[in-house]
Amino acid sequence: MPALDAGATASYVDSMSSSADHDCVVIGAGAAGIAAARALTRAGHKVCVIEARERIGGRAFTQEVAGHPLDLGCGWLHSADRNVLVPLAVESGFELNRETPPWQKSAEEHGFPREDQRAYRAEMGRFFARVHEEAQKGVDYPVVRLLDPQARWTPLIEAMSTYVNGTETDRLSLIDFDAYEDTEVNYRVTAGYGALINAMAVGLDIRLGVQARCIDHGAHPMRIETDRGTITARAVIVTVPTSILAAGLLRFVPALPDHVEAASLLPLGLADKLFLALEDAEDFETDSRIYGATDRMATANYHVRPFGRPLIEAYFGGQCARELEAGGLAAFADFAIQQLVDVMGADFKKRLRPLVASQWARDPFAQGSYSHALPGHADKRAKLAEPAGRLFFAGEAVSPHFFSTAHGAWESGEKAAAEALAEL
Ligand SMILES: Cc1cc2nc3c(=O)[nH]c(=O)nc-3n(C[C@H](O)[C@H](O)[C@H](O)COP(=O)(O)OP(=O)(O)OC[C@H]3O[C@@H](n4cnc5c(N)ncnc54)[C@H](O)[C@@H]3O)c2cc1C
Repeated sequence: MPALDAGATASYVDSMSSSADHDCVVIGAGAAGIAAARALTRAGHKVCVIEARERIGGRAFTQEVAGHPLDLGCGWLHSADRNVLVPLAVESGFELNRETPPWQKSAEEHGFPREDQRAYRAEMGRFFARVHEEAQKGVDYPVVRLLDPQARWTPLIEAMSTYVNGTETDRLSLIDFDAYEDTEVNYRVTAGYGALINAMAVGLDIRLGVQARCIDHGAHPMRIETDRGTITARAVIVTVPTSILAAGLLRFVPALPDHVEAASLLPLGLADKLFLALEDAEDFETDSRIYGATDRMATANYHVRPFGRPLIEAYFGGQCARELEAGGLAAFADFAIQQLVDVMGADFKKRLRPLVASQWARDPFAQGSYSHALPGHADKRAKLAEPAGRLFFAGEAVSPHFFSTAHGAWESGEKAAAEALAEL
């Protein structure tokens, strides 16, 4: 891919100091930014993407570890029957895995008898029905109000919320939670979701290691101040996570207080992954699941033999993930191994070896995993999506129904590109 090596970065600095005139500058080379840049480039415009990290993909990130392409960010093509990335993956020759995901099947019985699993699933079904029914009334409040704190399955439903939303239900908007569209069809990319997003960026003009700090959208052309100099453009598409906007790490002149406030009311929750190597993995079925504990919120979810690989993928969310991040891989691994030993017996420990863990809250260019609306603020996704002249906003957080996903981010990038095209 051009423009990613050191030489290309140097020539970028040169070009910034001379003409630096782009039709559109896209800030951020995640799914949304790549989608936007592809659409504008295809329409014949001169587009440049600036990306703070030394890699592309953002929260879509496949890392090769122990010979396996491991997704530390997005892994599932959710709502696959309506997911714009599914046809793109197929056209590009990426193999898709269409096996039923572990959360749609019964889990291993260890520590969680089938009868209890059925009772939990039934309660979960009733919970989602209550959420939908209440959301129809149009009055927003925290989802926690729909849970009986004494009920047997409430801690596990709370844990599920931390995986799905990255947050506990007391910080979750009822109307926003209900607005998410899940068709319950889920595929995976065998080579990794991050690898797919990377492949979509081939041929684009992407400048790595360049951090945007301020966008003067009152100037003509607009001026984008970066840590490597200033560039100008006729239009700008901002795709950075809401955490970055809320923290003022990317500023606007004139100020855009409504957008920044909207971003702060759509904070990123937290989800993290840990991969463990598993010896004698064949003892388990491919894509099976072990529950760590079923009586508390601070518990991880264990996906055993993903793709048939000799691994366990542990998923942590919310406060539990936040606390473990401080201790890095060792803390995630200790927690997970203890939970697995509690369920599977002491000997199981010998079969596990920690490989890698994410730390999305500590990542300076993410500062979390995916967005949720705070109670009373489900309307803020539409607010954040509003263009300010020729300044446009994209990213998973502005997607009306597929927020918190890579395909939602992608669609938002295409939408912002269409808006920019209309202006250009
Ligand atoms: C653990 C985890 C699991 C997930 N699982 C799934 C899943 O199974 N399915 C799914 O669909 N989604 C999943 N997601 C969510 C999905 O990864 C994201 O919603 C999506 O990738 C976000 O894309 P984006 O383009 O909106 O943002 P990002 O990918 O965050 O892209 C924004 C880019 O902007 C860059 N940037 C930030 N600040 C600046 C700056 N000042 N200047 C220049 N560049 C900057 C960042 O480095 C980043 O590359 C998961 C996420 C995580 C963390």
